[in-house]
Formats: sequence, structure tokens, C-alpha cells
Amino acid sequence: MDWSRRACSRRGHVLYEPVEKEYQGQVRADTGIGTAWRCLRCGDFVLDVPTASGPVAEAPMPLRGKALRSRFIMRLLAVERIFRFLLVGLGAYAVWKFSNSEHSVQMLFEKNLTIFKPVAQHYGYDLDNSSVVTTIRKLFTYKHSSLDLAAAALALYAVIELIEAIGLWLAKRWGEYFAAVATSLFLPVEIYELTEHATKFKIATFALNVLAVVYLVWAKRLFGVRGGGRAYEAELTSESLLHEPTEPVGPAKPTGAVPNNGVSNNGVPGGGAPSRTVPDDGLSSDTLTNNAATLPLSVAEPTVRMPLGEPPEEIVQA
Ligand SMILES: [Zn+2]
Repeated sequence: MDWSRRACSRRGHVLYEPVEKEYQGQVRADTGIGTAWRCLRCGDFVLDVPTASGPVAEAPMPLRGKALRSRFIMRLLAVERIFRFLLVGLGAYAVWKFSNSEHSVQMLFEKNLTIFKPVAQHYGYDLDNSSVVTTIRKLFTYKHSSLDLAAAALALYAVIELIEAIGLWLAKRWGEYFAAVATSLFLPVEIYELTEHATKFKIATFALNVLAVVYLVWAKRLFGVRGGGRAYEAELTSESLLHEPTEPVGPAKPTGAVPNNGVSNNGVPGGGAPSRTVPDDGLSSDTLTNNAATLPLSVAEPTVRMPLGEPPEEIVQA
């Protein structure tokens, strides 16, 4: 799946005009029917006006390819966390509600106790010090506090899930750390749960959480893994079409081959004659026919072909 093109089809292309002339070659192509700009996300040349202009340092850095896929996975995890927040939050509320209603059960018990006290005393029975009543009272107090504690623990867990969801959805570095730490902290609890009573749901949840932690640490380079945060930033920057330092060198070579092609073969790419004059003609004719949309070369070509009276087909397609 081409994640960049998928994003562009939904949100439109990212066209940017750098004020530095030396960088314009990377993203600008003058054609017979207008100036085409290279989309900073999908890499296609588009006959449209750039939405923004400024220095290269301030150029937008849209997520591309792998990074887009990664964000998709992060958002899936975030949605899963939201569901867990709702489920656990509801559980916390239910336990707290029951804990409070249990309190009223206890009140009822004490009320009845005071009603029966004179009767019991009449028969010489000390209700206050009876072992049965003491046990029931203990049960009430113990259960009540433990229920409240359980409700509080569930509420805390729900809040943690919510924070994870927000951090993952917004693709924040702290969110990724928070999710990785919190999820791995709960893994021992999940293991204990599995040893007590294993269900398919519990096994699936456990497996998902283990995968999530491994993926977060590995793909997001948390805790210094694979070079850490700096390497992660560099990975994103290297993906950028405008910041890549090798970019101007690459397309420059085949562009030289195009005029030869156009003039000697009347605009037919990949002809036999230029293959002798241009050593890497194989490469250039390949890109001309197959990757017409992705390389600047294909767009630059019509400027040569235009005087020969041929319609710039590739531009229309791009
Ligand atoms: Zn695009």
C-alpha cells in the first residue's frame, strides 16, 4: 500500500516553494504548460500553485511512507486504549456504586440491630458483643474499604489508558514513552490474571500489549534503542524530499540525457542512438517510461519536446 499517495488523495498534495534557488531544482519543473511542483509527501509532480513559500528550513515535513504507516498503527492502538478506558471506567463506576449501596445495606443492618437490641437485652443476650454481629460488621467494613480501593484502582487504570490514548493519537514522544512504560508495567498483572483464569480475550489482550511494547520501543527507537530519539528524528528528516542532500545530484545526470533523446529521436524516449552517447541511457529511458510521475526528469522532458510540437502527455498524467 502506498501510504503517501493514500494520504495525498485524502488531504491533498503538499506543494512548497523554497526561496533558495539552489533547492528549487528538487521540487520545481518548468513545463510547456506551466510550472509543476513536486509534492513533498508522495513525490509526484503536480501542475498547481504551491500553497506556501519560504526558506527550506521552514518547509513542511509531511510524514511519508513508513512513518505514515507507523502513525496509522499508533492510532489503532489509541482507539483500542479508548475502548479500554471506557470499559474499565464503567467498571470503576459500577464497583464504586455497589460499594456505596453496600454502605446503605450496612446502615439498614445497624438500624435493625438497634431495634432488636432491647428485645435481645430482655432475654439477656448482648447483641453488641455477639460474635455473629461482630463478624458481620467486620465483613461490612472490610468489604466496603476494599471495594472502594478496587474502584479507585480501576479508575486510575482507566485514566492511564486515556492518557496513553491521547499521547498515541497525537503521536507525541511522551505519549509513546508513557504507553510503553505503562503497558509493560501492567504485563505482570496480565500474566498473573492468565495463570489464575485464562480466557481467549485475556490471551489476545496480553499478546497485543506485548507486541505494542516491542513495536513502540523498536519502531520509535525509545530508550536509546537503534540510536534513540536523535536517530528517529534523522530517519524522519532523511525521508523528506526537500531536505535530502543527495537529491539534486541524482536527477541531474539523467536530465542531461533527455535533450539528446529528444533531439535525435524526435522525442521518442529510449531510442537506440542515444544509448551510445549517454552511458546510463538504460536508466533514463526506464524512468521515462515507467516512473514518469515520480522523477523530475520526466517533467523536465516536455520543455525539450514542446518545440517539436508534441503534446506533453506525461504532465497531464502527473
Ligand atoms: Zn502528494
